[in-house]
Amino acid sequence: MRSTLEIGSASGQPGRLAYGVVEGVALPSGGSDQFPVIIAQGRKDGPVLWLTASIHGAEYTGILVIHQLLTPELVSRLRGAIVAVPTLNPAGLRTADRGVYYLRGQDPNRLFPGPMPRRQTTLTDAPRSALEAAYQRLFEHIRETANYLIDLHNYALGSIPFALRDPVYFRAGRDRPAAQQLQNTVGEMLAAFGFTIVNEFASNDYLRKNLHRSVSGAALNTARIPAFTAELGGYMSVDPIITSAAVSGLRNVLRWADMLDGPPEPISGIRVLSPGYPMRRVHHPFAPNSGIVSYLVKAGDAVAIGDAVARLSDIYGRPCNEDGLIHSDLDGVVLGLTQGGICYQNDPLLSLAIPDDSDLVVPFPT
Ligand SMILES: [Zn+2]
Repeated sequence: MRSTLEIGSASGQPGRLAYGVVEGVALPSGGSDQFPVIIAQGRKDGPVLWLTASIHGAEYTGILVIHQLLTPELVSRLRGAIVAVPTLNPAGLRTADRGVYYLRGQDPNRLFPGPMPRRQTTLTDAPRSALEAAYQRLFEHIRETANYLIDLHNYALGSIPFALRDPVYFRAGRDRPAAQQLQNTVGEMLAAFGFTIVNEFASNDYLRKNLHRSVSGAALNTARIPAFTAELGGYMSVDPIITSAAVSGLRNVLRWADMLDGPPEPISGIRVLSPGYPMRRVHHPFAPNSGIVSYLVKAGDAVAIGDAVARLSDIYGRPCNEDGLIHSDLDGVVLGLTQGGICYQNDPLLSLAIPDDSDLVVPFPT
């Protein structure tokens, strides 16, 4: 790394915390939605870890994790630097929304630069949105300076905390060994973090959902920077036990990266699933009708094929489809509940972690 880091108006100072902004979306009312930046620069050189949070505005835990991690005491012992962006979605943070009020219907965590450069080919092609352009500018700082990146999120209602592992894509066969090496490094980072590890949706679904343009997906697949996403319990709330476990997990990643001395600290207070085989997330089952949902399972429960997981009734309280019971067709563990009390037909009801035998290093479809 360079001896001092400059990110937007933040200027790293050895042994200190430095603050500044990267300009975001210019607002019609004047000013801009700035991305706040904290640089924790150690006295000695070493790798640079980026920590980003709250790209979904109603997800707050990552902000608190950054605040609790970045102490003067940590910086005094650090080798290298941490660059933290406590919110990647200032607009959504203000309105407590997952998205951005001036980009309704779009998920901001699908707007980071993809592996193919986006070119405006004709005059009638729509230019990229203001937020996409702002993320592109921020991404250039990441590409230029980051050795590792961790993006902090919250997941579903009452969900257990876990870390999501993205697939790594490669184009030509000769690039496969480097892609495998990158995925191996991600595996080491995840092991150091110490949370339950869940692989992302299977490859085709991953691209269809534009997850390669999520923060971690873009860091990994566009900039080839080892990265993962941490899901830190339910949104719209902060669980102090999960927050503290995540801070410990991040310090353990710093130790793994040789940015901090000392043995790993235990991850306590949270459930860590280690079934002995890889797991990936799926949404399952889906509601056969719109209606009122009452769940028969909670996050962390194991479910087996045929288990009743929810009861669906109409607004009068009468069960839908005879007994109203909805069964799982999969074996897995409940990561979180995707609905509150109501659902529409074909809405997913649960996030499940199921056994996964898919490849995590895959050719990019041509
Ligand atoms: Zn999120």
